[in-house]
Amino acid sequence: MDRAEAEFRKARDGEVRRCPRCAQPSAVLIVDWQEEVYGIKTGVTTREYRCQSCGGRFKIHGKRENTIIVLLGVVLLFFVLPAGLLLLFIAWRRARLAAKAPVQPDARIPSIRYQEGPPRRRCAACANLCRPVRVAKESHNGIPLGMEIDYECSGCGRQFAVGTTGFYITLAFTALFFLGAAAGFWIFQGNLWKYAGAFASGAFGLWLASDLVRKARDDFANPRLPDPGMR
Ligand SMILES: [Zn+2]
Ligand SMILES: [Zn+2]
Repeated sequence: MDRAEAEFRKARDGEVRRCPRCAQPSAVLIVDWQEEVYGIKTGVTTREYRCQSCGGRFKIHGKRENTIIVLLGVVLLFFVLPAGLLLLFIAWRRARLAAKAPVQPDARIPSIRYQEGPPRRRCAACANLCRPVRVAKESHNGIPLGMEIDYECSGCGRQFAVGTTGFYITLAFTALFFLGAAAGFWIFQGNLWKYAGAFASGAFGLWLASDLVRKARDDFANPRLPDPGMR
C-alpha cells in the first residue's frame, strides 16, 4: 500500500461530512469510484457519500478535475458559448456542493442505516431479493457514460443486468451509429465492401440494440426495492 492509498483509507474510515440536505454531521463515504478509460486508471476519483441521518446521497469530485473543467469551460466560451457556460455551471455546482458538505473532524462515525451501492430489486420470476453483484462505471475521456449493474437473485439464482439512464443513452447512440454506418456502406460502397461492411456494422448495431432492449426489459420487470432504513 503506497502513501496515497494509506491516506485515502484513513480518510474513508474516519471522515464524516455535514449533509447538504439535512445539515447533520452524519454523511459517510460509501463508494469511491476510480475512473477508468479502457481499463487504464485516469487518477480521477469520485467519492459518493450517503447521509446516515436522512439517507441523502451526494458526490464529491476531485479538485483537480474541477479545475480542468473550469479551464475547458473558459476555452470553450470563445468557440462554443453554450458548452463553455454549461461546463462552468457544472464546476460551480460541484464546488458549491463541496462547500456545503464540509468535513466534520470531531464527529463520530454514525451507525450505518442505509445500504451502499445500487438499490436491491425484486425478482420477476420468484419475487425474492436480488442483490447487485457487479458495478461497471463506463467513462470515455473523463465523460461519464453511465453504469452497468449486474444482479443475482437470492432465490432462484437468476442473473440479469440493468443500466443507468446515461448507459441506455450511450448504448442507443452507439447502436444508431453502427446502423447508420451499415446504411452508409450499403448506399455508397461498391462490390464486396457493400455487403461485408453493411453486414458487419449492421450485425453489431443490432446486437447493441438487442442488449439495450434486454436490459431495459429487466430494469422494468425486476422493480427496485426501497432501502431497509427508509420508511
Ligand atoms: Zn442528511
Ligand atoms: Zn428469483
